[in-house]
Amino acid sequence: MTALKTLFLSPPSYAGFDGGAGSRYQAKREIRSFWYPTWLAQVAALVPGSRLVDAPARGLELPDVLPLASEYELAVLHTSTPSFPHDVRVAEAFKAANPRLRIGFVGAHVAVSPEPSLRASNAIEFVARNEFDFTIREVSEGRPLEAVDGLSFRSGDRIVHNRERATLEDMDRLPFVSEVYARDLVVEDYFIGYLLHPYVSLYTGRGCRSRCTFCLWPQTVGGHRYRTRSVAHVAAEIRFAKRAFPQVREYFFDDDTFTDDLPRAEGIARELSRIGVTWSCNAKANVPFETLKVLRDNGLRLLLVGYETGSQQILNNIRKGTRVDVARRFTEDCHRLGITIHGTFIVGLPGETRETIRETISFAREVNPHTLQVSLAAPYPGTELYQQAQANGWLATDAALVADDGVQIAALSYPHLSHGEIFDALEEFYRKFYFRPRKIAEMALEMATSATMLRRRLREGVEFARFLRSREERA
Ligand code: SF4
Repeated sequence: MTALKTLFLSPPSYAGFDGGAGSRYQAKREIRSFWYPTWLAQVAALVPGSRLVDAPARGLELPDVLPLASEYELAVLHTSTPSFPHDVRVAEAFKAANPRLRIGFVGAHVAVSPEPSLRASNAIEFVARNEFDFTIREVSEGRPLEAVDGLSFRSGDRIVHNRERATLEDMDRLPFVSEVYARDLVVEDYFIGYLLHPYVSLYTGRGCRSRCTFCLWPQTVGGHRYRTRSVAHVAAEIRFAKRAFPQVREYFFDDDTFTDDLPRAEGIARELSRIGVTWSCNAKANVPFETLKVLRDNGLRLLLVGYETGSQQILNNIRKGTRVDVARRFTEDCHRLGITIHGTFIVGLPGETRETIRETISFAREVNPHTLQVSLAAPYPGTELYQQAQANGWLATDAALVADDGVQIAALSYPHLSHGEIFDALEEFYRKFYFRPRKIAEMALEMATSATMLRRRLREGVEFARFLRSREERA
């Protein structure tokens, strides 16, 4: 077997599109934001001599990356449902530029629909289903495709589906993604509005114990067991990253729910404190005070919290497994401890009414996370929400998740609540949360005490105003 010279590509996409890479929810955001292409970096770390190119974050268009087609023998593209048509066009352009190039796709979209994905274009030779790290490594080693578990591939006119790949249990087998970041990426390219800049994000484990009906990754590539790297392995990577990126101001652990295993979260926090870094992570709104205090005392700055809604009925409908009263107490605890919260909410989930939208906005104003993000319910293929939407006729026939420019759209509607009302609720939510004296005063104070935050919030303000204007034009 001869190893193939391999390119990992997060393909060029809509301008400013944070998707097809490490983003859970691929859309052009209200404010410029880019997640790291962590999944692709993970497999790149397993393939010696490979290169990772993250085109959206670098601002690269197709003509910029096309010359790479002739430099490689294998190209692996990370795709997503919203970006798939774009990504196919990129694959076809690469294949036209170098007919000998072998091209494969990875990501939840192809894991859910391997056959339609392969039939979408002859340029795609194979797709790797579900957790694809070692699947792609074996392909890059030059193994015959029929001998690679977890792969679906084209064989003449037929599509062949190999048996499933065993779930990865020993997560310490995964090499450090930060080594690939250091080799191939520019950390300053990555922005998230609520994280210090520059930041680095990575995973310490995969899978989420919760079963939220709308959430894509645990229902596809991650699963519902929280499989974790050892504390020592995580600490060793952060030590490496601290040396490699002295300019980085914050580390973000993008595990689905970093707080799913509280003793381990506390163990990692204590190690991070010894290393001396500021960090943040995803959390559910039910972490007990004692754990929050340990995390805060050991460098935790911010929690990204998926509240989703202020309606208990909707929380039950989506199987979130949280309670509004517990979320309230958790948020008060965070405020008392000085832990910053970025809250995420979704409008248009099953059970949504005009009344529950009002209830959720009022809940958000009351608990008052430092910043928030509002998304429109997006039924990704592969989720229970998608099945419900199809069974109940909630989905428009041309079921796109983003508009032509990559901005999120209201894909769902209900007999009592139209697309338009859900779409309008997003803007109303932002306005009612941010345009009130208490919030304006908080933001003004933040800007007055930090020149960096002043520059950043002004830029975000301009982008947000542009976003509101574009919605008005679209309406
Ligand atoms: S808790 Fe978060 S990551 Fe886990 S299934 Fe629910 S939305 Fe997804």
